[in-house]
Amino acid sequence: MTLTNRKQIPILVVGSGISGLTAAITLARQGVEVTILHRSPDPADCNTARAQGGIVYRSPEDSPDLLVEDIMKAGAGISHRPAVEYMARRGPALVEQLLIRDLGIEFATAEDQTLEAISEGAHSVGRIIHVADATGMHIHQALLAEARRQPLIQFLADFTAIDLLTSRHHSQDYEARYNLDNECLGIYALHNPTNEVFTLFADFTILATGGASHLYLYATNTEGSIGSGWSMASRAGAYLANLEYIQFHPTALYHPGAERFLISEALRGAGARLKNIKGEYFMEKYEPELKDLAPRDVVARAITEEMTEHHQECVFLDLAGCYSGRVPIPERFPTIYRECQQYGIDIARDPIPVVPAAHFCCGGVMVDLTGETTLQRLYAAGEVSCTGVHGANRLASTSLLEGLAWGFSAGETIAARLARGQRASRRLLDSIPDWKPSGTEANEDPALIVQDWNTIRSTMWNYVGIVRTRERLERAQAEMADLGRRLSQFYHRARLTRRIVELFQGNLAAQLVASAALRSPRSLGCHYLKP
Ligand SMILES: Cc1cc2nc3c(=O)[nH]c(=O)nc-3n(C[C@H](O)[C@H](O)[C@H](O)COP(=O)(O)OP(=O)(O)OC[C@H]3O[C@@H](n4cnc5c(N)ncnc54)[C@H](O)[C@@H]3O)c2cc1C
Repeated sequence: MTLTNRKQIPILVVGSGISGLTAAITLARQGVEVTILHRSPDPADCNTARAQGGIVYRSPEDSPDLLVEDIMKAGAGISHRPAVEYMARRGPALVEQLLIRDLGIEFATAEDQTLEAISEGAHSVGRIIHVADATGMHIHQALLAEARRQPLIQFLADFTAIDLLTSRHHSQDYEARYNLDNECLGIYALHNPTNEVFTLFADFTILATGGASHLYLYATNTEGSIGSGWSMASRAGAYLANLEYIQFHPTALYHPGAERFLISEALRGAGARLKNIKGEYFMEKYEPELKDLAPRDVVARAITEEMTEHHQECVFLDLAGCYSGRVPIPERFPTIYRECQQYGIDIARDPIPVVPAAHFCCGGVMVDLTGETTLQRLYAAGEVSCTGVHGANRLASTSLLEGLAWGFSAGETIAARLARGQRASRRLLDSIPDWKPSGTEANEDPALIVQDWNTIRSTMWNYVGIVRTRERLERAQAEMADLGRRLSQFYHRARLTRRIVELFQGNLAAQLVASAALRSPRSLGCHYLKP
């Protein structure tokens, strides 16, 4: 797609994961032109393509009511019941219609040729369908292929969204500033290879930028998961909620040469058990009933305790000694098998060294059942948003379903609004100026940027991590605010590059998480304050 620096696009979707692609496909199928913008050259650079375990569907022994109860229980009682009910009733039907029938994704089948519905931690029945241990990659490939087939969908690759354009902050028309309604009118976006900034106007903007777990030292997420959507939405004045509830996955591969590669919960679903350096299976001590299949926060804290007690840097996941599946381990878990083999670990024989890592954000930009935020013309879907489904903790494998359901819902709602003629005012768009580069200094000093990211990530890990205290949170908030002040000055002098934009956005997102955690004085779900 060729771009002039100032461009009017009917619908702009920021992000090419499950939520962004689903929204775009839904709109295009209703005859609406959509542009999907994503920060990397490859649209598959997203967490969706990393998902291993599966997506919640249903099984004969399941029912929407049972799913609602499991999600409410995992969410520690603060999930938003209407959102949970909406997803439990609408979600599985969408999986069937879009993923199974339309896109023909070949999910694994059981011996009787029906879909194999497996269980994971805190699910009371088997209801998760999967494609081996690379479910997200298969779903993403199928959605991407469908989006590419749609002539009304265009892709803008290698662009970083910098800021949302709003009538209140950017319009030079004073009438607009006196209006109490604040409207989102598109974004400023940086073309990464040239560092040029574009003004992209849209009638509706959908934020689908994913989560923020890469703000932490150890994370299972892609490096772009730094909460840029939160940062932009918060600067534009949208309401965000539940940011303190960061879920830590209990089991990421621990190996000096490896990134924190996720060792899926599906292994524990297939019988694998956690043991400490002494060879003791320890989960029974912390959670006698659910043991290794206890909710993630309970397992992550138990591992942290065991590591501290035994002065060890990891614990071990024993799959080989406890496996209960019928398919041989290398076939059932091919991705994990291959990844571990690279580091000399044969998961069909050896215990796997594991540590917890930041994994999923339960909160985000507040949306209603249609994906609409508190800022007019701005929608959000997927991990960037807070639908209220996850409350204080997420039930495993519900996030792909949430991205699918809200991506669809945002697409449908916006198509209906456009059909009713609800377009942005031309006069307002004309009153928005192009980006004015305030800084001209080419001062992207890699040492400064690396050090600032180290500060953000280690502060978040140590002070806003699995176990928190008021003192740690106060320290984190102060340090992040202090860094923020220095970065603001730097940001205004510097010529923009993606690394500078993301450092600024990441720091603001870290401040938002630390402040939310400080305002939340009781332990709940994955926000745990040491008594
Ligand atoms: C290792 C791993 C395993 C998982 N396993 C499961 C599972 O089995 N089941 C399950 O339900 N969930 C799982 N999850 C969680 C799930 O994958 C995510 O919550 C979900 O895919 C998020 O989808 P999304 O569309 O919101 O965001 P993503 O898929 O992360 O996509 C975000 C997009 O936004 C773009 N972006 C971000 N910032 C900007 C910016 N400033 N400008 C432009 N573009 C930007 C990125 O380039 C990307 O295209 C897993 C997550 C991980 C990391």
